[in-house]
Amino acid sequence: MLVLKSMKLGVFIERDGILNHVRVEGQHQVSPLTLDEFEVKREAEPLLSKLKAAGLVVIATTNQPGLSRGYQSRRELDRMHDLLRRTLPLDDILLCAHDEADRCPCRKPKPGLLVEAAFKWHLDLDRSFVISDKWQDAEAARTAGCTSLLINSPFVGKAHKDFVLPDIGAVVEKILRLKNTGRVMAA
Ligand SMILES: [Zn+2]
Repeated sequence: MLVLKSMKLGVFIERDGILNHVRVEGQHQVSPLTLDEFEVKREAEPLLSKLKAAGLVVIATTNQPGLSRGYQSRRELDRMHDLLRRTLPLDDILLCAHDEADRCPCRKPKPGLLVEAAFKWHLDLDRSFVISDKWQDAEAARTAGCTSLLINSPFVGKAHKDFVLPDIGAVVEKILRLKNTGRVMAA
């Protein structure tokens, strides 16, 4: 019982498109590669603060295959993430630096980043949440046992997701309601 009581709930938030702006080219979002291109969505700050005030651990997750493919510099990414931490109340930023060909366990839609965070932060994944605008995060959430809340976008896809909502404000309100009603009974 003590172990269960000490477990916290996490909110995993996809970085690109939710916490920072992205360019859209055709069917894809294009991640910013330099600090100059990196524009944080400052309007997310009061919403993330609400999640933190409710006792949730707030963690950004991101696939950045440019690191292994060679077009994203680690130094520039660190500068971008320093800015992200200074602007938004994040407890952690977890990233997958791999290409598909690396067959790593952490590239979303695989759940490795969520599992890693659960060990590091003592999170109960069954009662944790994933926020994104892309199906890959919903799939990672499903595999890890988290509840997924997607913001409607061209990228939500057909994979299972628990909720699709119009904006991040609606998502945060939903999470706070679900947390207060205890066990999530998603469709
Ligand atoms: Zn990886």
